[in-house]
Amino acid sequence: MPEEFDLVVIGTGSGGSTPASKCRAAGWRVAIVDDQPYGGTCAVRGCDPKKVLVGAADVASWHNRMSEHGVAGDARIDWPALMAFKRTFTDPVPASRESALEKAGIETLHGTARFVADDRLVVGQRELSGKHFVIAAGSGPRPLEIPGDDLVISSTEFLELETLPSRIAFVGAGYISLEFAHIARQAGAEVFVLGGGAPLPGFDEALVERLLSHSRTIGIDIRLDANVTKIESVEGSETFRVHTGSGRGSGVIEAALVVHGAGRVPNTAHLGTKDGHIRLDRNGAVEVNEFLQSTTNPRVYAAGDVALPPGSLPLTPVGGHEGAIVAHNLLQGNTRRPDYRGIPSVVFTLPPLAAVGLTEKAAREKGIAVRVESGDTSGWYSNRRVREPVGMFKTVIEADSDRILGAHLLGVHAEEVINLFALAVRFGIPAKDLRQMIYAYPTSGSDIPYML
Ligand SMILES: Cc1cc2nc3c(=O)[nH]c(=O)nc-3n(C[C@H](O)[C@H](O)[C@H](O)COP(=O)(O)OP(=O)(O)OC[C@H]3O[C@@H](n4cnc5c(N)ncnc54)[C@H](O)[C@@H]3O)c2cc1C
Repeated sequence: MPEEFDLVVIGTGSGGSTPASKCRAAGWRVAIVDDQPYGGTCAVRGCDPKKVLVGAADVASWHNRMSEHGVAGDARIDWPALMAFKRTFTDPVPASRESALEKAGIETLHGTARFVADDRLVVGQRELSGKHFVIAAGSGPRPLEIPGDDLVISSTEFLELETLPSRIAFVGAGYISLEFAHIARQAGAEVFVLGGGAPLPGFDEALVERLLSHSRTIGIDIRLDANVTKIESVEGSETFRVHTGSGRGSGVIEAALVVHGAGRVPNTAHLGTKDGHIRLDRNGAVEVNEFLQSTTNPRVYAAGDVALPPGSLPLTPVGGHEGAIVAHNLLQGNTRRPDYRGIPSVVFTLPPLAAVGLTEKAAREKGIAVRVESGDTSGWYSNRRVREPVGMFKTVIEADSDRILGAHLLGVHAEEVINLFALAVRFGIPAKDLRQMIYAYPTSGSDIPYML
């Protein structure tokens, strides 16, 4: 006989935790399952550990920029010590998350959940029936499907490296590759980023171009016409040969480590979605309606990276928002829809690149009459003070209403300043109001009026 629950949640990350806790608090019998240590990608294998490394890389970079300008001595990354520091954040997460769930009275399971019917799934030997299910199974590296793809390590393994090899190739030119490339470069490695298409779609092309050219000047070898076609190990040495392109455009790079940064896909391959009558969209994500409910199995809701309805982005705060919407709809009926206005997104390179809302190109394609402000900020006080040699901004403002539709920042504190623009985009605050704001000074936020 299956064990009966009101709700079974798959995934303990930002998408799954809230529906589990809220429904349990409302008195529901709830089970949650994960095939990885509890806590989800962000806290254990993604954003949080990554930004600890970015922080150290930032210190090293800033220190070196200030050399002969008032800061003396040497700054270098001690990788093993940095990893030990990183583990002080990640190691406690699984046990503390699991015990919090258990304390709340939620049944916690370990293993892979697989649907066997509309209302039932199995985890190992256990069979669970549910009145409702939340799929918050996240995403994983896109299968490369090239010879030698088993030689490539994932972002998770990169974040666990005990030592950093001196020559590293990143497959793909997305945000994970670029962030890791900047970390590895500041740690002294020779770094290659091998991409096959346009890098960082969704970000303003001019700012991306500026970031890439700056990355090259600090020694990151970025090749954008370099689709990786094959990886092989070199006999008798601990290096790999990474083949790129084809015909006359082909090339080979030798590296001691090859890292996957070529995009992520929803974790739906092992969910038994066919048996659960759960339709997937053409990207393999759970297809949901406007209430984040499966279009084919009404018992099932989905949140986070595993479902990407129009407007959503595979980011932690978005997963959290969707989880809260799902919890509400489970408890109160389908009455809330996610609100995807003004989601900020950051590439944590040095300096960071940040964006919210529409790019200039997207606004023009939509036929919106816009006023665009843009400029180089490398000479502005905020960047000069810390000797940051690169900076740029672009804002996209609706001509008629003066509403801010998009903001794009590259430079010091871009990852923080973007939040103010996100507030404006989400709540329709006009440019005039942001110009009239009184900002703390001197801060990077106080540059905002000059960007409008
Ligand atoms: C290296 C890296 C850096 C990132 N940096 C940022 C950042 O700076 N900012 C940001 O906002 N986002 C960042 N992200 C994205 C962010 O981590 C994700 O958007 C977020 O974690 C998704 O949460 P989720 O709840 O959808 O899934 P997850 O947190 O991935 O949780 C899903 C869990 O379900 C498990 N699971 C999957 N299938 C099954 C199954 N069949 N049975 C049982 N368990 C299953 C998975 O193993 C996983 O543990 C980063 C991601 C990576 C990989």
